[in-house]
Amino acid sequence: MKNFDIILVGDGLAARLLLYEMSQRQSFLDKKILQISSPINFPECSTRTTSVVSGGVHEKGISKLGDLLVDSYNSFTSFVKEYNDLEMFCEKSPQYYVFDEDMTEHKKEMFHKRFGHELDDFHHCKVASKESYLVFPEKLLSFLKDLYGTRLNLTHARETYLEHRESTLSTDMSTYNGDKIILATGAYSSFFESTLDTKLGKAVSGSYLKWDNISLDIDNFVLSKGHFNLIHRKSKRELLFGGTSFEGHIHAHNLRELKSEFSLFKDLINFDLDVSNANIITGLRHKCSKRLPVCKKTNANTYVFSGFYKNGFSFPFYLKKILIDLLD
Ligand SMILES: Cc1cc2nc3c(=O)[nH]c(=O)nc-3n(C[C@H](O)[C@H](O)[C@H](O)COP(=O)(O)OP(=O)(O)OC[C@H]3O[C@@H](n4cnc5c(N)ncnc54)[C@H](O)[C@@H]3O)c2cc1C
Repeated sequence: MKNFDIILVGDGLAARLLLYEMSQRQSFLDKKILQISSPINFPECSTRTTSVVSGGVHEKGISKLGDLLVDSYNSFTSFVKEYNDLEMFCEKSPQYYVFDEDMTEHKKEMFHKRFGHELDDFHHCKVASKESYLVFPEKLLSFLKDLYGTRLNLTHARETYLEHRESTLSTDMSTYNGDKIILATGAYSSFFESTLDTKLGKAVSGSYLKWDNISLDIDNFVLSKGHFNLIHRKSKRELLFGGTSFEGHIHAHNLRELKSEFSLFKDLINFDLDVSNANIITGLRHKCSKRLPVCKKTNANTYVFSGFYKNGFSFPFYLKKILIDLLD
């Protein structure tokens, strides 16, 4: 049986950020690390995502989730400052929150409390403007791999993790020994709940519509109304429309809702785009109690890093240090 200091299950953004964090610490450079992932059996959410990182909406001191959103946004922007010099993996974009004149007075008050009183015009809509980043997931994933790849003593096995008992870990093809085992398994983490004896939330689907090769004479933008976002990535000539939906229903309900909501957005800014020409992309997110992630030691040698739900492109930037401190 092959022995490793660390076995990491997962190859999504969460797993890659952990490997990046390890590669930044001297104490991990001589560790023997095995990474296990199974992209066919367990497709990653990290490439089926609208991947917007929104800023300026949350403040600290109100809730645990709010604190985490602010800290995570700051960690993400620090990483961007350090590495994104040529817009390698993300671009800045304004995010416009639509102010609906027909809202009740109470909702208007809530809107101003959240987004402030200053309103701008965007294509005849009244909007509150904040900043955001449009991440290109594949580019970010390969950028991270390039950063840690040459520094770590890392072996990658495309196998399916089944279970582990103490330090013995079984996959569909082999058995390994790992001193420390990390699960960064996204929405699939709840499958292992019973063996880990801890609550690990549930998988929640999310879908979005994607148009390729579109040419709009407008810069990047994110237009947000209610639970929905319309996202224009000018350099990729992509338009994405997504949102959350009835939990648990993967296709039909999601799509029906997406399509009718899209027609409202289309009317708002006068786009001539046909829903039947859009690709439909669905990903599985991991939602835990109170939308808070899991970043902890669960058993004697087991660590879980997951539950990033709608904030997979910011939470792990902040939490990676905390998880690796636990291991160090
Ligand atoms: C429609 C949609 C829109 C979204 N929009 C945004 C957004 O705008 N902003 C934002 O921040 N977040 C967004 N998210 C959420 C974000 O994409 C996720 O939170 C994030 O990608 C999760 O990353 P992860 O690494 O935890 O999980 P994943 O990317 O799912 O990675 C899990 C990994 O574990 C591996 N794995 C699992 N089980 C096993 C096993 N048994 N054996 C071997 N390997 C295994 C998988 O193969 C995979 O490599 C969105 C998600 C969806 C679906």
